Amino acid sequence: MTSAQTTGVSRDELLSAIEEIAVILGRSTYVVGMTGAGMSVESGIPPFRGADGLWTRHGTPRMDGYSQFKKDPTGWWDRRTNQEIDAHIIELRDALAAAEPHAGHYALSELEKQGSLQSLVTQNIDALDEKAGVQNLIEIHGNRTKLRCIECGDRVSLGDFVPLYAPGPCEKCGGLMKFDTVMFGEPIPADVMATARAEIDRADCILAIGTSATVRPASGLLWIAAASGATIIEINPAETKLTPICDVSLRATAGEALPLLLDALSK
Ligand SMILES: [Zn+2]
Repeated sequence: MTSAQTTGVSRDELLSAIEEIAVILGRSTYVVGMTGAGMSVESGIPPFRGADGLWTRHGTPRMDGYSQFKKDPTGWWDRRTNQEIDAHIIELRDALAAAEPHAGHYALSELEKQGSLQSLVTQNIDALDEKAGVQNLIEIHGNRTKLRCIECGDRVSLGDFVPLYAPGPCEKCGGLMKFDTVMFGEPIPADVMATARAEIDRADCILAIGTSATVRPASGLLWIAAASGATIIEINPAETKLTPICDVSLRATAGEALPLLLDALSK
């Protein structure tokens, strides 16, 4: 395993690691990106975990959000409308509303356009990958700008419209509609999990970016890929649980590394 530190390490070392990653991507046939909270942090969205995380500052919320919602959906929407929700949710919502894609998001979209990246599995709900133009996108924890029926899984895009009151029943099946974002205690929608697993099974190279690889079941996909022989490349400012199984682990932010990787692959 090679490791390049961007802190206290020369730009030459960073560029040499980027070159190594570019060579691996160049000889791979199916590259799947896997992104986590670190991508969002670079767009100003606070993470839940870590020293400055929302839960560290506001306290860990109840982990039964989904069962509370299903018991009383109208009450859930009323509390939301009346701002009777956790301070950490309000802070997160404001940050999400203001966030824009950064250079790393746009570089991933360009890598896909030029055929260096076949799909992107993201754990983020911020819709910034979509906004940056990524096409083959699997949002494993949902997308905050969509509603989803919990019965048939039909999704409705909201665009910039944010509903303040409970939406009507599903137009397809009459089922209960909720934000597509996966709540605590809510299973990952079966269609999304199956698509993500199929992408991981096809991949001979995984580009894991800004993910601490600790949130299940998404993180498990990385170990499945490694066990099936895929080359694992990590781009993350900090060492993670994934680092020991990576072929290359680059200590850099996505916004720093991905545009350089795009340059290296565009030569
Ligand atoms: Zn439905």
